[in-house]
Amino acid sequence: MEVLSVASEVYPLVKTGGLADVAGALPLALKGHGVSVKTLMPGYPAVMRVIEDRKVVLSFENLLGARADVLSVEHRGLDLLILDSPTFFDRPGGPYADATGKDHFDNWRRFAALSKAGALIAQGALGNWRPDIVHVHDWQAAMVPAYMRYSAVPEVPTLITIHNIAFQGQYGADIFPYLELPPHAFGIEGVEYFGGVGYLKAGLQTSWAISTVSPSYAEEILTPEFGMGLEGLLSIRQSDLHGIVNGIDADVWDPAADPALTSHYTAANLKTRADNRQTVARRFGLAEDDSPLFCVISRLTWQKGMDLLAATVDDLVEMGARLAVLGSGDRALENAFHSAAARHPGRVAVLSVYDEPLSHLMQAGCDAIVIPSRFEPCGLTQLYGLRYGCVPVVARTGGLNDTVIDASHAALAARAATGIAFGPVTTENLRRALHRAVRLYHDPKVWTALQKQGMKSDVSWKKSAGLYAGLYKNLIAKKGS
Ligand code: ADP
Repeated sequence: MEVLSVASEVYPLVKTGGLADVAGALPLALKGHGVSVKTLMPGYPAVMRVIEDRKVVLSFENLLGARADVLSVEHRGLDLLILDSPTFFDRPGGPYADATGKDHFDNWRRFAALSKAGALIAQGALGNWRPDIVHVHDWQAAMVPAYMRYSAVPEVPTLITIHNIAFQGQYGADIFPYLELPPHAFGIEGVEYFGGVGYLKAGLQTSWAISTVSPSYAEEILTPEFGMGLEGLLSIRQSDLHGIVNGIDADVWDPAADPALTSHYTAANLKTRADNRQTVARRFGLAEDDSPLFCVISRLTWQKGMDLLAATVDDLVEMGARLAVLGSGDRALENAFHSAAARHPGRVAVLSVYDEPLSHLMQAGCDAIVIPSRFEPCGLTQLYGLRYGCVPVVARTGGLNDTVIDASHAALAARAATGIAFGPVTTENLRRALHRAVRLYHDPKVWTALQKQGMKSDVSWKKSAGLYAGLYKNLIAKKGS
């Protein structure tokens, strides 16, 4: 089975969040299911710098107003198609925003171009290769099925995956004439959304099937609280909506071999985790003692419940714990954590940088990772935590709910517990959960059992890759019927 995947970020080339991890790991996991994937992604400077042995396989004189080449590249087991268009992608800043955090002014055109290229490739533009299925990710690639729906060439079956419904790619109606779609595409069955153009909406409307990254989130987005305006459309398409939990790349995330660690370890011998803990404490300038070390590895945003944690930091210190925060985001939240660090030197520390190796070391050295998200489509950091024996303390929502088993009396007795879960998501409930974590930490037998049970959880892609392969097969069958 041949799949064209279209994504705006792919690990290890470019990553701002979980989407990149999925787009980078799923193709590798699918190989074991007889599925081969080509991934189309933008040629950002960070991508163009590292790719080698590029071959131009397609050229556009004018792709929504700019020249573009499609380069075929092999990179660390991934079969990539890079959309090389300096006009759209060769610029400073990140994939979506400039260095000041302001969205690139022409994101609508950049990602419409990515989507149009995806649609044309799906429909045979490469000449010698056609996919059986197109799998697109998030709003940046969501116009692929719309471009196919409104072209004269037959559609290829499509699956769109929602990694976070909060980001929708919503623009004014004034961009419509530049999208090179026929006038009737601007309607309720097409790209029109609240009088403007909605990229994610268009994808949800025109894709053959929809998935999101956990069963709980698949249910939550049918409600006004989580659906962010798209709950009505999703409810209509409920029979085509699937929830498949993300896995992690068990080779990149392996405490027995991870190059970012001071000491390697396995579930059978957790003692050497202490060396990693000491390195983390040193890197953050925290006291080197035996008190529980909590961590955060996250965007510092309202979604992630970071305001709730900021409001409980003093209590956490009072409980005798330490806190290491790796992350940046909203200025006000960054400031809140920096001022907590100033109030509690040696007990609370913050590094507002993006540091992938440090994130590995923290999972390997901290005792618990705190994830108090208000909503969490899947979440990856709790999965890394499970694999590394860093006990997740999570809000009971979305993928957190599907992947962490709370340390209730019953679950502890049955040796099934893998973390601490709390809900509803309030400051008071978070405070209680942290308190519970500290108490359990001081019972080493129970704590070690929690760590070991977590490390036994299957957080690999094995099962989920099988579910995606099954979904692809069903869509192909639908085409034939
Ligand atoms: P989201 O995609 O909503 O940001 P996820 O938990 O799905 O949240 O994925 C976040 C990913 O980004 C994880 O791989 C996490 O380890 C990583 N991450 C977040 N902040 C940082 C940081 N400051 N440094 C390194 N990695 C980070």
